[in-house]
Amino acid sequence: MLTVDQAVQAILEHVVPGSTVRLALNDAWLLRLAESITAPHDSPPFDKSLMDGFAVCSRAATQPNQTGSSLMSPEIVASDEPVSQQHQPSIELQVLETVTAGQIPGQTVSSGAAVRIMTGALLPAGADCVVPIENTEFDEAQPQTVRICSSEFKAESCIMRAGTAARAGSRLMEAGQILVAPRIAALAEFGISHVQVYRRPSVAVLATGDELLTADQPLTPGRIRNSNEPMLIAQLKQANAVPVPLGVARDQPEQLAAAIHRGLQHDFLLLTGGVSAGTLDLVPGRLAAAGVQTVFHGISMKPGKPLWFGVFQRDGHRCVVFGLPGNPVSSLACFELFVASAIRRFLGSPNPHPQPVFGALTQAISVRGNRPVYQPVHASFSSQGLQVTPVPWNGSSDLRATIDANAMALLRPETGLYSAGQQVATYFWSGMIPLHSDD
Ligand code: AMP
Ligand code: MG
Repeated sequence: MLTVDQAVQAILEHVVPGSTVRLALNDAWLLRLAESITAPHDSPPFDKSLMDGFAVCSRAATQPNQTGSSLMSPEIVASDEPVSQQHQPSIELQVLETVTAGQIPGQTVSSGAAVRIMTGALLPAGADCVVPIENTEFDEAQPQTVRICSSEFKAESCIMRAGTAARAGSRLMEAGQILVAPRIAALAEFGISHVQVYRRPSVAVLATGDELLTADQPLTPGRIRNSNEPMLIAQLKQANAVPVPLGVARDQPEQLAAAIHRGLQHDFLLLTGGVSAGTLDLVPGRLAAAGVQTVFHGISMKPGKPLWFGVFQRDGHRCVVFGLPGNPVSSLACFELFVASAIRRFLGSPNPHPQPVFGALTQAISVRGNRPVYQPVHASFSSQGLQVTPVPWNGSSDLRATIDANAMALLRPETGLYSAGQQVATYFWSGMIPLHSDD
């Protein structure tokens, strides 16, 4: 039997990144770029104001205005001003016009003049700074003039020059980066409305078993409900794949073969159940008969030992096939470690392997048996770092235990007894990293 690491390696060797598509920004969220992105223009594209205030020329504080008129009339400011500003002369300027965001200024600012300006508006010619309105003496009833203390005239203050954030032609993003919200916004800012990204895989989900009922059917003796299908569909959505439920195939060779045939038309086929050693565990045989090449069957882990993995290739089409164990916690664990890694590779991830984080056990726990155990735990962040609490768990069929868990901790048989405080590798389940204290 392969170890978990060997199995991940074998799977990743058989999965290739999917094809790429050109998508509108709003459809590309959480997909990976398949191209690098260069700034097509400066950002900001023009010198702009960062405040609501007055665009002025900083030299106005030291130079008389060109006309030498009485507009510039230094005077001593009132003594209740802060000490640092006392005895600073204030200067009266003529307000030439008001420019709001999106408008083009019509006037040039000279030493005796100012332009009233709003945040985001294009800086008028001649101005080299903006004085925020709250730092001026301005009366809306007399908007022709404004009085500004000379200490407020600071070149480059409250403005942003064209190209400060990015120069035209500079590299913004690399191929492989995930399109999260700020990156999508940055693409929009630069007028890039469509991007080349790795497409989402289409993943068929086929549950197998004579005993399976749907969630809306009443229980009858010996039957159970199909919980794996909705779980896998949710996990696939979280993994950014497109789930295609194929319903339930009964433990009957022809029905199973027909459903497998449909499933193989997708990028991935996930089956659950029918892969262990029972008399009705028909899945490996039917997959082989359908032309799926077996890569491995069985992994040294608990839960998840019966996992089956293979690849189907025909006429340039490739379908990666997982036969997941029927027991729900096994199916959950195998998806998180193996299927999610394969999907990440398909989606263009440069590092698709499972990523543990290390945390401290809050209580002692022992490992029985000789296989590594992926123990359901509740992991939460505290001021001491990640705290990992094992939940009471009765093994691979005990789905109830997972309600209170959000991760699994790897417990190695060679360690035997883990003590409280000991560090363990912890694998958060899809989308379950706690962001709030009640998660
Ligand atoms: P199998 O691998 O088919 O022998 O199934 C192993 C165990 O998992 C059995 O107890 C099944 O009843 C259970 N099981 C199989 N498929 C599902 C499913 N889709 N949802 C919940 N339990 C299942
Ligand atoms: Mg079965």
